[in-house]
Order: sequence, then C-alpha cells, then structure tokens
Amino acid sequence: MSYRSFVTEGPVHILGAGLSGLSAAIILAKSGVEVHVHEIRKDSGARFDGDFQGLENWTSRRDFFDEMRDWGLDPDEFKSDSFSIVDLAHPDDVITNPITDGVAFRVVERGTDHHCIDQGFKRMARAAGVEIHYGSKRSPEDCQIIAAGPKDSSAIAFGEVFHTDHPNHVTFQLNDKLAPGAYSYLIIIDGVGLICTCLWRKQRKSSRYLNETIAWYEEKYELNRRPIKRVGGKGDFSIPEKYVHEGRYYVGEAGGLQDFMWGFGMRYAITSGVLAGKAILGECDYEDEVKDRLLPLIKVSATNRFLMNRIGDRGFKMVANHWMRDQKRKGDGLEFMRWVYRPGFFRRMIWPIARFGMLRNKVMGDGRRVLRMPFRGALKRDVWEPSQRASEIGEQWKAIQGGGGGVSFSDSDA
Ligand SMILES: Cc1cc2nc3c(=O)[nH]c(=O)nc-3n(C[C@H](O)[C@H](O)[C@H](O)COP(=O)(O)OP(=O)(O)OC[C@H]3O[C@@H](n4cnc5c(N)ncnc54)[C@H](O)[C@@H]3O)c2cc1C
Repeated sequence: MSYRSFVTEGPVHILGAGLSGLSAAIILAKSGVEVHVHEIRKDSGARFDGDFQGLENWTSRRDFFDEMRDWGLDPDEFKSDSFSIVDLAHPDDVITNPITDGVAFRVVERGTDHHCIDQGFKRMARAAGVEIHYGSKRSPEDCQIIAAGPKDSSAIAFGEVFHTDHPNHVTFQLNDKLAPGAYSYLIIIDGVGLICTCLWRKQRKSSRYLNETIAWYEEKYELNRRPIKRVGGKGDFSIPEKYVHEGRYYVGEAGGLQDFMWGFGMRYAITSGVLAGKAILGECDYEDEVKDRLLPLIKVSATNRFLMNRIGDRGFKMVANHWMRDQKRKGDGLEFMRWVYRPGFFRRMIWPIARFGMLRNKVMGDGRRVLRMPFRGALKRDVWEPSQRASEIGEQWKAIQGGGGGVSFSDSDA
C-alpha cells in the first residue's frame, strides 16, 4: 500500500495536540486530508503554564520563521520576541555578551493563553479544517502519528514566573552548582520574568536549586521580583532504531527528537511533524528525512552532552571563554552555536564512545527499540547548604503558595 492510497482511503488520526502533532495535522489538512487530533488534556499548551521557551535559530543557516512560512505555517499567529544578544554568565560569575547581527533565537510562551505558540498552532490547524478532540483518550494503535510528547525523564527544568520592572532581557548561565550538569536562565518579556534551572542530574529537592538560582539572579539584576507561580517539566531524550514503527510515525519528543545538549526541542518537534505530514502525502520518506536532516544534529548534541557530563565548572568556564574568543575572531557570536551543532570529524569519532558510555538500550511498551539517555544520579558535589537568601526565597514561596500561588510541576512529576 502506498502512502498516497492510505490517505485517500481514510482519515488520519494523530495522538497529541502539541507542536509536533499540530504541525503534521496542518500539513495534511491543507492538502484536503481529513485529520483528527486526539489530545488527552483539555487544551493545546496545557502541559505548560505560561513558561517562556527559546526557539533556536542556529541548527540551520535558514531562519526558522522563513522555513515555517515555506511549509505554510504562519509565525505571526503567535507572539514571539527576537533576541540577537544575551548575557552569558560564566561559572565564576563573569558576564559577557554573545551577539549576532541577525536573530539568534525567539522567545515564545507555552500555554493556553491566546498569544502562546500552542494556541497559534491550534488556530492554524482549525483554520485548515483539522478536528481536534480535547480530553480524548485514544489507543496509539489506532493512530497513524504519535505526537504525545515526553514519556520518561532524562532531565527536568524547574522555574518561577514573576512580575518585574526590568526591561526585556535574557541571561544564559553555565553553572554546575545551581544547575547540575546544565544551565539556568532568566527571560524577561514585557514585565514578566522567568528564572529557570535545568537539572541534568536527578536531585531529591529541585526547589532547593531554584531558590539558590533565584538568589543569584536577584543579586546580579534589579528585578523587584513579585512571584506569580512555579512551573517546569521533563525532557525525554532517546534515539530509536526506527522512526516509523508498525506503520506509525513517531514525531517530536514521542520519537525522542530532542536536543540532548540543551533541550531546545521545539524546532525538532515542528520540523518532524511537517515531515511526517509530507510523508503521508507521499512527498517524502519520513525515515530517510529524519535520518538525513535531524538525526545527525541529534547525534552531535548527544556527543556534546556526553562531553558536558564529564566536565564541571572548570570545563564550563573553558566553553564560555572559547565562545567569546570565537566571537572575537569571527565577529558573530552565533557562529559558535552553529559550530557546536556541526557534525565534524572530532565529534563523529567520539560518537561511538558517547553512545556506549551514555545511552542505554530499552524496548518501549509498543515494541520499539531505543537508545535512551537515563536521568543521571546526583554527585557528591550536589550536596551543599543553602544560602540565607535562598532559604528566605523558599519561605517566601511557601507563603505565596499558601495564598494560592500555583505549582504546575513538582519533584514527583519527574
Ligand atoms: C520546562 C521546559 C522548558 C523547555 N524549554 C525549551 C526551550 O527553551 N526551547 C525549546 O526549543 N524547547 C524547550 N523545551 C522542550 C519543548 O517544550 C519540547 O521539546 C516540545 O514541546 C516537544 O513538542 P512535542 O510536540 O513533542 O510535545 P508537546 O508539545 O508537549 O505536545 C505533546 C502533547 O501530547 C499530549 N499527550 C500526552 N500523552 C497523550 C496521550 N496519551 N493521548 C493524547 N495526547 C497526549 C500532551 O498533553 C501534549 O499536549 C522545554 C521543555 C520543558 C519541559
């Protein structure tokens, strides 16, 4: 049976109305295919709660919004703010500025408000004629596209959203104490801030890390922080043997399509959804496209992650210094990020070691064989006494929570 005849024979059912599932749905519906998307939650974006996320612009020289327009996806359907400069906080608290002439990344909001990216995709899908069934349970076996997002945890992110008087701003911090094995960030858009710490090593109390991270940012920036809520979520990183299994297309994080190094998974989610839609229309072969276009980037990111797992703050400092030297030489801070994701000779050589050293074989419930990145255990150096200010921030949050402040993610969700 060709893909084309499958489409003309019946409607396409998609599991999950997130970015990957809706991207596939839009492509198919615009070509006149009957599409049903089944979403377990009440709305698109309900997995998130107003978190800011960065849509990266460095894994391809092509601007991602131009790529989206080529696919018939309209980036003006949701709010985004472009950034060409960030504060890069080194582990020894030095702050430098990677800068580029174009767009380094765009900040979008995830959630159910009108301006969120998830709602923009929902509107595009509905306009194309997609039927979205919210609060709906459907067996994956009865769907052609699996777009249900992460299942397990390889890492988590935990943040606080607050009101602030500070102008729009982004800081990216490399710090193995505040964000074990990873990074933290501060994003401020139109008077609302998010401070988030990412934990690439499993900890019993993630709020301890968030409180200490907030204390760090408060000391460096005039935030006048008025907390609103705490948010977060998990990331699932795996490399499956096949992206099409028993006739089903696995897209986005359900297919393990994530950036192992930093967790910038949105571009992979949208791209893989588009490719799956096109494959069902008979315009490409999904397996080949993912393996040609996305898998090399994912392998590089996994190799980088393997190397990063081996370095602490001294290594992070070297990375930050190298980034700044590279920018001075080339006159563009984005070139370093492009290089980081380029599958060059050195990283190709390291890949087999990274694969055996970091990834574990797993057979999923649906019979797919994958190489998964497990959530690493804590290290001795992850145990430290909280600072006085961090303890106060923890107490402040407890009081706000007592008064109704929401938490959309907790340690138990990991
Ligand atoms: C805290 C946090 C910060 C992040 N920051 C960034 C960032 O800055 N930049 C970036 O690019 N990426 C970031 N990511 C990653 C990014 O959010 C994901 O990679 C991306 O959303 C994956 O898209 P998806 O379509 O696979 O999944 P989602 O967009 O999550 O969509 C999956 C959908 O499937 C639904 N679903 C789940 N199970 C079922 C089921 N059984 N039946 C029906 N529906 C189901 C879910 O409710 C959800 O709506 C972040 C992730 C987290 C958690």
